[in-house]
Amino acid sequence: MSVLLFAENAQGTFKKATFEAATYAYDLAQAMGTTLSAVSVGQVSEEALASLGKYGVSNIYDVRDEKFNAFVNTAYAAAIANVAKKIDAKAVVMTQSYNGRAVAPRVAVKLRATPISGVTSMVDPADGFKALRLSYSGKGVQSFRTDNDKVVLTVKGNSYQITENPVTAEVISADFSASEENFDAIAKEIIKASEGISLTEADTVVSAGRGMKGPENWGIIEEMAELLGAATACSKPTADMDWRPHHEHVGQTGIQIAPNLYIAIGISGAIQHLAGVSSSKTIVVINKDPEAPFFKVADYGIVGDLFEVVPKLNAAIRAAKAAV
Ligand SMILES: Cc1cc2nc3c(=O)[nH]c(=O)nc-3n(C[C@H](O)[C@H](O)[C@H](O)COP(=O)(O)OP(=O)(O)OC[C@H]3O[C@@H](n4cnc5c(N)ncnc54)[C@H](O)[C@@H]3O)c2cc1C
Repeated sequence: MSVLLFAENAQGTFKKATFEAATYAYDLAQAMGTTLSAVSVGQVSEEALASLGKYGVSNIYDVRDEKFNAFVNTAYAAAIANVAKKIDAKAVVMTQSYNGRAVAPRVAVKLRATPISGVTSMVDPADGFKALRLSYSGKGVQSFRTDNDKVVLTVKGNSYQITENPVTAEVISADFSASEENFDAIAKEIIKASEGISLTEADTVVSAGRGMKGPENWGIIEEMAELLGAATACSKPTADMDWRPHHEHVGQTGIQIAPNLYIAIGISGAIQHLAGVSSSKTIVVINKDPEAPFFKVADYGIVGDLFEVVPKLNAAIRAAKAAV
């Protein structure tokens, strides 16, 4: 019996979300009285693989057949399930990323395991893997348990604190050749929509809405994001009107995020917008209307005209940074 982490990489490197999932998987393995193994699919350097030992991974199964260079969810699921069967994994853990969400249910079917997506806290393996996850667009919390003795879990980004649990990691080459039928759809080229900080991974997000009046005014938002090392986001109407690119749209029908700090500027706080951002650890709202619904969920609020407030804040942040 073991716990298996799918150590997802992006162009050969592991990102923060993978280390979060690794920490989660290690804590779960401890709770189950077993060890943590990982499977890496694609081209990751030996050194990067061995670095997973810092997060408690004892064995790393390295599947690096060149057929896996492009992400193909059916083939990846076959490779992960193959390792899970080999080590008799009772729990497979991965990040709630686009790839994780595509792969998790497929792995669950292959292992006859129960998929539990988007967990935000540790499951209880002694009580049917009892898990808490957000439901009703983040307005409710669902308690979930299963009679199955095997689960596949995806961990919601920014919901679990990364900690180091160093062990010596052994990298094991795992030959696996998925059958041709698993490669029916192959991504031949990946064009990144933005070179900036990834919205789902960002610690801080500066977001703006229709209060900005037009796309030409976004300079002060980008300036604040740059000063804070933040990603930029927007409300749905501003993306619909092409003021901002669609990949920045957060909310019920956009991306769901949970950064440590979410700064909402000129956004009313409609329920559909909050559905995508209400898990943020700290919410700061800037709005000229004191009755704007966003203030009800804000940790800090500034009532004022954003065209006066934001430049002043930017100047203050710049001065504070210069003083350090
Ligand atoms: C099925 C469905 C799904 C949806 N999904 C989403 C979603 O995923 N994400 C999403 O965002 N929306 C979504 N919406 C739309 C949502 O209901 C709201 O219409 C939208 O979020 C409002 O965007 P906004 O806050 O930018 O604009 P508005 O509602 O127009 O609010 C603008 C705000 O800016 C403030 N403001 C104006 N001028 C200034 C100024 N000078 N200084 C400071 N503040 C100022 C105003 O007081 C106001 O609060 C969805 C709607 C439906 C029906």
